[in-house]
Amino acid sequence: MAIERTLSIVKPSSVSDNHIGAIVAKFEAAGLRVVAAKMLKLTPEQAGNFYDVHRARPFFQELVDFMTSGPIFVQVLEGENAIAKNREVMGATDPAKATAGTIRAEFGKNISENAVHGSDAPDTAHTEIGFFFATSELCAR
Ligand code: ATP
Ligand code: MG
Repeated sequence: MAIERTLSIVKPSSVSDNHIGAIVAKFEAAGLRVVAAKMLKLTPEQAGNFYDVHRARPFFQELVDFMTSGPIFVQVLEGENAIAKNREVMGATDPAKATAGTIRAEFGKNISENAVHGSDAPDTAHTEIGFFFATSELCAR
């Protein structure tokens, strides 16, 4: 299995609920390592560009409003099979359908406020990491 890097976002509801540490702990327990991290508040333009693939979806405005409602915690996770492993630890998009013990099952409120984002493939991981971090900010471990 290859060592991969993937982008993870702790969404505004989880930041305001003070669950950053609990969420990072779940990734670390799964063997993923944090190689970059920061907090920031997205502008509507940045959130729209980040979720550009969903621009035509009925929930796009709701998604942008939510993602700009408060600060987010963005991190790059590294490890064997990190992209799939991150998605596994996150759980299904709809917290009501997420497997018990996953982040979304534990900390997600509904399909919109679902606690975390994670890249879904190598190409999106590369683009999404570049959206938030300069190469010099990724720390080898
Ligand atoms: P993410 O991209 O955030 O990791 P995902 O890949 O599981 O989540 P996507 O289908 O890419 O799910 O949807 C992106 C985000 O849009 C979801 O995480 C959720 O916040 C929001 N979303 C998706 N479907 C809906 C919906 N039906 N109603 C409201 N919001 C939705
Ligand atoms: Mg997605």
